[in-house]
Amino acid sequence: MLSTNIFYSGYNIVFSILSLFIGIGTVFLVRNSKVFRSLFLFQLGGLTLILLTYLTVNDHVLYKFGLNYNFVAFVQIIISLIISVLWINSAADFHHNGFANREALTVYMSFGLTACIYYSFVEYNIEYATYLRSIFTITGITLLFISCLTKLWKNINTGNLLFALSLLMLENKLIVSSFFYQYNWLNLNIFNWLWIYVFAVAVVFMKFDMYKTDLQKSWNSIDKLNLQLMNIIDTAPDPIILLRRDNRKLYTLNSKAVILLGVGKKEIRYHGFDDFFIDEENREKFISAIEENGEIKDFDLMACNIISGSPFWISASAKILEYNNIETIYIVLQDIALRKEREASLHNIADRDPLTSGWNIRYFEKVAASRAQECIKNGQNFSLLLIDADKFKKINEKYGHQLGDKVLIKMAEICRNSVREDDVVARYGGEEFIIFLNNTNTRTAVRVAERLRQSIEDDFIKNENDTIKFTASIGVVSSEKTASIELLLRQVDDAMYQAKRDGRNKVAVYNEQEIKTSSKKKKSPKNSIHPVFRNEENEEISLLDSYESRGL
Ligand code: GH3
Ligand code: MG
Ligand code: MG
Repeated sequence: MLSTNIFYSGYNIVFSILSLFIGIGTVFLVRNSKVFRSLFLFQLGGLTLILLTYLTVNDHVLYKFGLNYNFVAFVQIIISLIISVLWINSAADFHHNGFANREALTVYMSFGLTACIYYSFVEYNIEYATYLRSIFTITGITLLFISCLTKLWKNINTGNLLFALSLLMLENKLIVSSFFYQYNWLNLNIFNWLWIYVFAVAVVFMKFDMYKTDLQKSWNSIDKLNLQLMNIIDTAPDPIILLRRDNRKLYTLNSKAVILLGVGKKEIRYHGFDDFFIDEENREKFISAIEENGEIKDFDLMACNIISGSPFWISASAKILEYNNIETIYIVLQDIALRKEREASLHNIADRDPLTSGWNIRYFEKVAASRAQECIKNGQNFSLLLIDADKFKKINEKYGHQLGDKVLIKMAEICRNSVREDDVVARYGGEEFIIFLNNTNTRTAVRVAERLRQSIEDDFIKNENDTIKFTASIGVVSSEKTASIELLLRQVDDAMYQAKRDGRNKVAVYNEQEIKTSSKKKKSPKNSIHPVFRNEENEEISLLDSYESRGL
């Protein structure tokens, strides 16, 4: 005989429907979890049970449908046991497979189910079957309750507490309804429904707890990933910096960058991109290229070390990257000082004459025009000297080509030592040298040329027991009439040939009508002065001061 006082009131139908909705809401909350199906079936079974109970309590309805009381009671026992199995299983699943895990409970409840079927259908002892069902359900719930308590022991939270409470209430309800139903001293309605509501709230809390745990796990894995990323960055062989995209302040940097830029990791927040990258023009280009394309590769920039203040070249590749939820510009730097040095030396090689180590004609042509323009801009004259070794073929023939080379090296040296630092001396051809004299007029240029000629004449080369002497003829031209380098080069060539015609070891100034010649007599100090200055020996030539200050 089943308890009849549980469903004695018509209000219970209202409660049933309400609990069904709450049950469906609970299912909705756990719809993505594996317990969905069993919880859903549990709610469906619950509804069937309510209807069956309603039928057994209201006999007249049974008879109306041609059913007898015993048959409905059998079905009710079987269904209620199946529901208990489902409920206990889903609850066990939901409670993270605790001590009373899904499999153990299924096996246990299967015994109960078999026993109930036997007593219901073979022995026809409904009352005994009812007791058996109650005992199995109650012990199943007790196991679940103990499992929950052991979990609670380790992890007390609202979800677990409510879950345990709902189990306790269900158990009490079952005990009271199964064994003490004849004492009508308890209003079982309260037990009957309240545990479902408590269970629903427990589900809400446990679900929330699951989300919280998942979220915490995600945060932890993000933290772990960030740490791994930082480790990778820190151990990278190249310097790496991360700038905040909004204010271009340093966000973080690796050990290599600390050394390169000279900034400690603790001081990074005080420094920004502009502190290290002193190359203002390229800096802006670099940033706008990143902002435009999101990344940039191998961009050369001039940087500096904060401590030493020394500038150096770096190549930067950058990308916009979200790091720790912050928009950053991730920059990998490469110290390219060595490359720049090589580039410079390659550049140097291209512009140098390998024999004399001085500038070559290529370089001269490159700088002469800009030097000329500079002088014109400053309202100054400039001059060109063309120096050609005299009878050089004979030196080669007599002493050999190698010694000829030595003479050329010596001549280049004399030329360089005869002018100022910022004048340009270049090897113009085989045994010819050209000199660009900044801020120099004809008079000064002739004076310089004359001294140079004298120095060459005075110098010599030792070869075993021989002393090899050599001379040169020098052409002079100034920008007083024209500043065209092309024209001046032709004119200085003419002047040099004039010096040759004048008998070699001479200085000749270009003259449109008639090229003046020097009629210098060897070894005579007076004659060693060019005719242009013949009567101006004591004249102050301010331009010469700069040459004289070098001791020339
Ligand atoms: P001048 O200029 O006085 O008229 O006579 P030169 O003998 O100097 O004139 P020329 O232009 O006929 O000869 C130039 C010689 O310079 C020819 C060449 O063998 C020599 N020469 C050119 N370049 C080099 C060089 O690099 N090393 C050596 N040893 N000789 C060179
Ligand atoms: Mg020549
Ligand atoms: Mg010559």
